[in-house]
Amino acid sequence: MFKFNGNQTGLLIAAMLSLIFSTGAVALGRPNIVFIFSDDHAIGAVSAYGDSIVQTPNIDRIAAGGIRFDRAYVGNAICGPSRATLLTGLHSHANGFYSNEWSAPFDGEQQTLSSLLQEAGYQTAVIGKWHLYSDPVGFDYWEVIDNVFEQGTYYNPSFRGPNGVVETTGYVADLVTDKTLAWLEQAKEEDRPFFLLYNHKTPHRDWLPGPQELREWDEGYRVKEPESLFRNVDEFNEARRQSRMRIADYMTDQDVKLSMGNTLTPEQEALWKSAFAEGNRQYRALDLTVQDDVRWKYQRYAKTYAASVKSMDRQIGRLLDYLEANSLMEDTIVLYSSDQGFFLGENGWFDKRWMDEVSSQVPLLIEWRGHIKPGTASDALVQNIDFAPTLLAAAGVKPKKPMHGVSLLPLFEEEAAPWSRDLYYHFYENPGFHGVARHYGVRTERYKLVYYYQNDEWELFDLVTDPQDQVNLYGKQGYAALTDDLRQRLQALRVEYRVPDTDPEVPWYHGPLIRGIEKLMMWL
Ligand code: CA
Repeated sequence: MFKFNGNQTGLLIAAMLSLIFSTGAVALGRPNIVFIFSDDHAIGAVSAYGDSIVQTPNIDRIAAGGIRFDRAYVGNAICGPSRATLLTGLHSHANGFYSNEWSAPFDGEQQTLSSLLQEAGYQTAVIGKWHLYSDPVGFDYWEVIDNVFEQGTYYNPSFRGPNGVVETTGYVADLVTDKTLAWLEQAKEEDRPFFLLYNHKTPHRDWLPGPQELREWDEGYRVKEPESLFRNVDEFNEARRQSRMRIADYMTDQDVKLSMGNTLTPEQEALWKSAFAEGNRQYRALDLTVQDDVRWKYQRYAKTYAASVKSMDRQIGRLLDYLEANSLMEDTIVLYSSDQGFFLGENGWFDKRWMDEVSSQVPLLIEWRGHIKPGTASDALVQNIDFAPTLLAAAGVKPKKPMHGVSLLPLFEEEAAPWSRDLYYHFYENPGFHGVARHYGVRTERYKLVYYYQNDEWELFDLVTDPQDQVNLYGKQGYAALTDDLRQRLQALRVEYRVPDTDPEVPWYHGPLIRGIEKLMMWL
């Protein structure tokens, strides 16, 4: 029989210690985390979700290799606030970032996902869109889009890091990916796991595709129109009527590529013209009816949105290929999501902000080999407050202060236990671009109740029979008991999350200023 002598035991212990400490990520059982986060990407433009206006073969790889959440939502469908929630696991009122337009810069000193992971020994990085106005905290490495108030431009954006601002030449999705792969190249050599936020600007307004999509632009191709493209606005309540969302009225020449509006190099400009100039000439020669003009603008809008998704999807493929080629996929959780959805012509609208399904629902795809069965789908109601708790649980890190969200790890099990919860939503950015009224609401398994408190108007939707919030049942006969129940559930959430009764003060000049900018944009 084999027996240990003193020397052998010493060697064995040394070997075990070296296994534990030499290959940090594997031996400590802590996965790497790659969060692929895009901007304004509705599930109607993700082919893993079925009926999509564009094929996204690379994003779909994550769904095929893991789990697709069919009912994932954000709690405030606007860029910065959604990002603040991702970092804190808290709704807007608790993390202090209510609005892109009038909130103070994000307070990165509060408890965040990045700081907790960093303290737990993770290498942490954020590269790409940030849009929280303060410098990132809790990241060993950061390089964020800087120009146009951190909104960035599709071509030749500038990036800001600890050492200042750097100008670039090229397409934003390609640049973000170049920088990300460069960071991974050194991060993978370290004996510690990494947490990477890989943040795309794409497909945010003004939907400018990358070079290959400009080269392959097909003016004659037609995208399917949404059924509600010509929705009768007279049926809307006051909150909806007073918003400024319509393609017919608020889409600029730059949005639909009748003007260039971007600072491009001569080569980029030539490519832009090769895609759009002839179509523009033909459009100007036409004398379209009001309806046909909306149809034309919708096509330009939806097709450029789809093409910029395509440009991003190819870059996501580059990242996934890199992870595969470097044998990192086995120890890495890869997530894909977006800061909110988007109206792709539904109601005749573009933009986001509303609690409506198309704007508050987001894609959520997670691949984690050995932990999630490939090709799984879940219809559990989940929200962006859950992102941080989930990743912390996967990393074995306990938050010091409670978060609003819960870990989704139990949903990764093949036989997941029953999941039951209501989701809270609250939009504050009024006055603001597009004039969407402040509202809060509850989303349950089947119903949604929304309160527009500046207008004192309510909406009730049955999402089983009406999956796109088209028929307001509030006040209709037979719904009184249901409405009472939903009202109580909404109030229970407001108590649970300690939502203040009053909103932050907004400077008096903010509304007129925004209206002025909107008018200027239409005029330019
Ligand atoms: Ca956004």
